[in-house]
Amino acid sequence: MTDTATLSRKADFPGLLNDTGQVWHYLDTAATAQKPQAVIDACSRAMGADYATVHRGVYSRSADMTLAYEAARRRVAAFIGGAEAEIVFTRGATEAINLVAYSYPNKGRVLLSQLEHHSNIVPWQLAGWQVDVCPLTEDGRIDLDAAEAMLTPDHTMVAFAHVSNVLGSTLDAARAARLAHSVGAKLLLDGCQAVPRLPVDVAEIGCDFYAFSGHKLYGPTGIGALWGRADLLDAMPPWQGGGSMIDQVTFERTTYAPAPQRFEAGTPAIVEALGLAAACDYVAAIGLDVIHAHEAALVARLRDALQPMNDVAVFGPEDSAGIISFAMQGVHPHDLGTILDEEGVAIRAGHHCAQPLMAHLGVPATARASFALYSDDSDIDALVKGIERTRRIFG
Ligand code: PMP
Repeated sequence: MTDTATLSRKADFPGLLNDTGQVWHYLDTAATAQKPQAVIDACSRAMGADYATVHRGVYSRSADMTLAYEAARRRVAAFIGGAEAEIVFTRGATEAINLVAYSYPNKGRVLLSQLEHHSNIVPWQLAGWQVDVCPLTEDGRIDLDAAEAMLTPDHTMVAFAHVSNVLGSTLDAARAARLAHSVGAKLLLDGCQAVPRLPVDVAEIGCDFYAFSGHKLYGPTGIGALWGRADLLDAMPPWQGGGSMIDQVTFERTTYAPAPQRFEAGTPAIVEALGLAAACDYVAAIGLDVIHAHEAALVARLRDALQPMNDVAVFGPEDSAGIISFAMQGVHPHDLGTILDEEGVAIRAGHHCAQPLMAHLGVPATARASFALYSDDSDIDALVKGIERTRRIFG
C-alpha cells in the first residue's frame, strides 16, 4: 500500500494554498481537480509565446500549433489505449455523450443505470431514445446480473458510468462490454471519474465509446474527449456544422471531413487541448496504479474514521474509488459543508447531478469527500475534526 504522505504532491498545485498561504483541505476533486503547475505552464505557453490558430495558417507559428494540437490528440489517445483518429475533442464528457446520443444512427433502446450522472441520462432523453434503467446491487454497484436479464435485441446502446461520481463504485467494464455485445448493442462508458483514478485501456475493456472531461484529470476546463471505434465514428453523421468539419461547401450540397474532424466544428479549444496533453503527461509520470493505491489507502482511512460514528451513514462499497458519500443524522449536508468550510475543508454537498440515485438512496442530498493524488492524511484529519465540531454545534 502506498504511503499517503509520500505521494501527496501538494507543492505542485498552487490552487491548494489559500489566501493566507495555508494548505486548503480540498476534498472536492470529483467535481473538478486542482491543476499542477506543469499544466498551468503549458496553457500559459500555448496562450502566449506559442499562440496561433490551427489547421489554416500558412505561416510557421500556425503550422507548429497544428502539429502541437494533433500531438495532443495522439497523447490523449495513448493515455486510454486508443488510436489517434478515434479521439474527438469535445468540451467535456457532457458534450461527448450528447454527440453519441444525437449522432449514433441506430437509435433504439438504451440501457442506463440508477446511478448515472444527469449528463448520461438527459442527452438520451432529448435525442429520443427509449430509456431503460438497470438497478444497483445492495452495496451500490451497477447490477450486471440484472443487466444481463434486461438486455434484449431492441437495445442498441448500453451507457454506464465506469466509476460512480457519488458512490465511487467501479463497474466491471469488460463484462458490461460482453453483455452489450451479446445482444448486438454498443457500450458507451462515462469515464469522468475513472480516468483520473485507475488505469484505463479501451482496447482491453472492449467498449465502443468512452467519454471523459479534462478538468477532472488535472487538466483545464472546456476540453474533454470522446473516444469511439473508428468504424462507428465513420458511420456517424456530423451533429454540429461550421468551419473545419467540411470537405466541400456549396449552397447545393456540402460534404464532410472524415472523423474525427467531422465532429469538431469551429475553431477548437487549442490551449485547453495542449493543457490536457500536459495533464496526461503529469499523471502518467506518477502512474495511475500508484494513484489508485494512494486513493484506496485514503478511502480505507476515512472509512475507518467514520465507522465508529453512530450518527454517520456511509454509502457505497468498501472499495470505492477515491470517493465517499455520507450523511450525518440531524445535519443537512449543506450545513455540514458550511461548517467544514470555516475549518478550511471543502467537500461537496448536494445531489451531485444524480437525482435518480438520491431517490434510490432515499435522501435529498449527501455529503461527499473525494480524493486526488494530492490528498493526504492531513485532509482526512481536518475533515474528521470538522465533523466532530459540527456534532458539537448541532448538540
Ligand atoms: N459523468 C460523471 C460521472 C461526472 O462525475 C461528471 C461531472 N461531475 C460528468 C459526467 C459531467 O462532466 P462535465 O460536466 O465535465 O461534462
